[in-house]
Amino acid sequence: MQQVLIVRDKKYEQHLEGVPHLESPKRIKAMNAVLQDPSLEGRLQFVEAREAAYEELAWVHTVEYIDRVAQSAGKRLTSFDFDTQATEKSYDVARLCVGGVFSLLDEIRKGRGKRGFACIRPPGHHAEPDRAMGFCLFNNIALAAEYLKRVHSVRRIMIVDIDLHHGNGTQKAFYLRNDVLFVSMHHFPSYPGTGNLGEVGSGRGEGYTVNIPLSKGQGDADFARLIYFVVNPLAQAYQPEIILVSCGFDLYLYDRLGTMRVTPDGYGLITFFLLAVAEKVCDGRIAFVMEGGYSLRGIRECGLRLMQELCEESHVDPKSIDRVLGSSPAKIGAVAKMREIHKKYWSVFR
Ligand SMILES: [Zn+2]
Repeated sequence: MQQVLIVRDKKYEQHLEGVPHLESPKRIKAMNAVLQDPSLEGRLQFVEAREAAYEELAWVHTVEYIDRVAQSAGKRLTSFDFDTQATEKSYDVARLCVGGVFSLLDEIRKGRGKRGFACIRPPGHHAEPDRAMGFCLFNNIALAAEYLKRVHSVRRIMIVDIDLHHGNGTQKAFYLRNDVLFVSMHHFPSYPGTGNLGEVGSGRGEGYTVNIPLSKGQGDADFARLIYFVVNPLAQAYQPEIILVSCGFDLYLYDRLGTMRVTPDGYGLITFFLLAVAEKVCDGRIAFVMEGGYSLRGIRECGLRLMQELCEESHVDPKSIDRVLGSSPAKIGAVAKMREIHKKYWSVFR
């Protein structure tokens, strides 16, 4: 039976406390409620979060930028841009997010478990090396990849971003590098404007950024197909030692910022296929890092289905799996174009 490692901390509620904001503390309360579900009882192992050190943040972020976020400490409200704010404790909370993911990865590397979920906020994938953006302060998942490389000597890391929005910050952190393969599927054109097909990485990193820009309205089977027909062959070709997932819940069909049509069962199906990829290429090692998602009901219901899959408490309908396996990726227009562009780098697409 799989034990699933979980990072959670009451302090994640302290960011933007008392400030009306879409990225509200209620989001983390909703995810914490999922962890109390009777179906998960006895399956979860909790990992204590620590705060990331200043020097660790500087692996991805500039010192000028870190200082700017640090200066928000103790102040009632600091605005970085139209939608990204910090309150008194946000600097500490954001460091506890980054360090929480580090703690989770330490445990996976120690072999305490292979699967993990970091139940954290603020999210991170929009945060660029020198700027806060899109509700994100520090780029949790990019820093996690750096941590694996620098502290655990991991040579190849794959990041799969399934948030509705493009992970511009993560892309920027690794655009020139081939030791992190970044694959993002997202609504396009949409916030933040990046993530088009032609953004493939540069220099040594050329081919190691894979964007799949999608039109709105994609559903459960579409995303499952993307995992099976795109993420799966890429992972087999690249052979990462671990997979990190930027896990947004904003693909949910009733999300407040949403444009896709993924149901809670769809999150179960997507998770099923992601786990299968990890089993095939990296002995099942996979860590999910929470990103966006702005329907509390969506977080509760999609989060529960995702967590049940991680715990092998599966309710995925075998017919929906067969439908994905028996279909063709050509059903999604962007996939054909992406394969055409990337066949030059990845023989699996020829
Ligand atoms: Zn998002």
